[in-house]
Amino acid sequence: MLYIHIPFCLSKCIYCGFYSVANTRQKEVFLAALKREIVQRSTYLAGHPVRTIYFGGGTPSLLSGEEIADILQTSHNTFQITPEAEITIEANPEQLSPDYCRMLHDLGINRLSIGVQSFQDPVLRFMGRRHTAAQASEAVHNAAAAGFDNISLDLIYGVAERSDEQWAEDIETALSMPIRHLSCYALTPEENSILYKQIQNRKHAPVDDEQAARQYRQLCQRLRQTPFRHYEVSNFAIADYESHHNSAYWDHTPYLGLGPAAHSFDGHSRQWNPANLSQYLHNIGEGILYEEREMLDEKALFNETLLLSLRTRKGLSLNALCERFGPSRVNALLDYFHTKVPQAHYTETESRLRLTEAGLWFADGIAGDAFEI
Ligand code: SF4
Repeated sequence: MLYIHIPFCLSKCIYCGFYSVANTRQKEVFLAALKREIVQRSTYLAGHPVRTIYFGGGTPSLLSGEEIADILQTSHNTFQITPEAEITIEANPEQLSPDYCRMLHDLGINRLSIGVQSFQDPVLRFMGRRHTAAQASEAVHNAAAAGFDNISLDLIYGVAERSDEQWAEDIETALSMPIRHLSCYALTPEENSILYKQIQNRKHAPVDDEQAARQYRQLCQRLRQTPFRHYEVSNFAIADYESHHNSAYWDHTPYLGLGPAAHSFDGHSRQWNPANLSQYLHNIGEGILYEEREMLDEKALFNETLLLSLRTRKGLSLNALCERFGPSRVNALLDYFHTKVPQAHYTETESRLRLTEAGLWFADGIAGDAFEI
């Protein structure tokens, strides 16, 4: 798996905690460094084939066709990328003109993840998004017309500025589109976001957790009546259109992250690049392969496995867990579930522990409490 972080946006959305700079002045110098990084880290995946490539950010759709082609070519020259690899690009609606969509499709990008967030202009304005509701709809249709079969939309719920009825309308609008995948996230004011500061300075009310939980239930209830399958806390897909890239993260598959703030995982340790473009450029120039590295001991790997697997509807394979970490940890985990986790929040068979739809809302808390066992 390859993750490529494109650290440029045209402005910052109010809720965003992802690393990016709000201009594209250093795009060229960044792209030269990125190509150098791809080559510098050519052995990281130890010759394993690359089955997914994901352009995230930031706003990858600020790149031109030549720039994307160049990155893909360097990746193909460096790694063994499988012919059927899933290649995703995150795109903002305002960039998805018919020509741009066709160009992405011609380059072999086969999955588009569109940052729609809402189909309502007042909500988009509040979030600081640069597109309108009309542009969002147009973008999806342009992508489909260009030949994209695998389109995913991102939506955000739990926004005080949008009522439950308006949220229901957004869900309906999304379902009326030619999409196969839906990622829905609760509004979370990340610590380095504008919204976080506004809440701290009392310029915005804190996020209403009850509203977010209610709108999550609304979403699950509605999607249960559709072919979309709830396969991870925030993700829904038509059969066979689950994100291969994200599913591989959740399965603990090693991955290489390139670009500022990108993380990598080799199965035993995690490394990350500086969340700072200048520092990143300096490091690449000096041949410094990553900013920091954290070795993951057995307990840390066990905890990560819980955290990632419990967020998925597939859940935890008890046999695999036992093989990897031994029976005593598995017994302690089962003990924790039997005594501390409400029965309505999980199901247990001989081979699997799975959170129910109600339980998934508490997945991080349930996994976090299990870290103590
Ligand atoms: S949400 Fe996306 S477009 Fe908005 S600032 Fe963050 S990375 Fe950029």
